[in-house]
Amino acid sequence: MVEIVLVEDERDMVDLLSTHLSAEGYQIRSANSLASAVSAVAQREPDLVLLDITLGNDDGRDVLREIRLLSDVPIIFLTGRGLESDRVAGLKMGADDDIVKPFSLGELSARIESVLRRGQSVPRITERSVLTFEDLSINESTREVRVRGDIIDLTAKEYSLLVFLAHSPRQVFSREQLLEHVWSSSGEWQNEATVTEHIRRLRHKIEVDRDAPKRIATVRGLGYRFEPVVS
Ligand code: CA
Repeated sequence: MVEIVLVEDERDMVDLLSTHLSAEGYQIRSANSLASAVSAVAQREPDLVLLDITLGNDDGRDVLREIRLLSDVPIIFLTGRGLESDRVAGLKMGADDDIVKPFSLGELSARIESVLRRGQSVPRITERSVLTFEDLSINESTREVRVRGDIIDLTAKEYSLLVFLAHSPRQVFSREQLLEHVWSSSGEWQNEATVTEHIRRLRHKIEVDRDAPKRIATVRGLGYRFEPVVS
């Protein structure tokens, strides 16, 4: 049975969500504070955490930080409307998704299913040093990248950039961070436009729909992230 830890301090919300999610077949444990949330995850790792940002005297972002020290469990952040900065902070800190209140129960279920599905499929190591994400495979011994079976011709930098992103699926990297890690350079020495240009060329080669890139997603205002599941 798939188990969800629900972290929320408002009793009505806890009742509503627990009832709905139990009916959907999930097992729910609830927590209403930072301390109880951390102990719930520490005691037995759930399959997913639903975490509200406002928890009385506690801040959901602190809960997220504490849980991340313990576990890589998928976390969906519940934020208030208009709190774009909270949303961004949550994703930056390692939340897997976020839902803005008020949301419909149908939307919540769909997001939960999507996050759980992602978790099951990443990353699948088919043989030593081959990373496979659906129809994209990266062989790190031969440096061969294939999309739907066809070998893709990448420059050394494009290859390094792809491998770097693919090693941390769904993690957001700023252009500055990519310059540091992939180019071993700081923004002072190399222009961040270099990154933009390489991302553009890489997308051109690996994306199914070049006008609507999915594999390397743009996270507005933050940077880029590699999506393990796009179909
Ligand atoms: Ca709350």
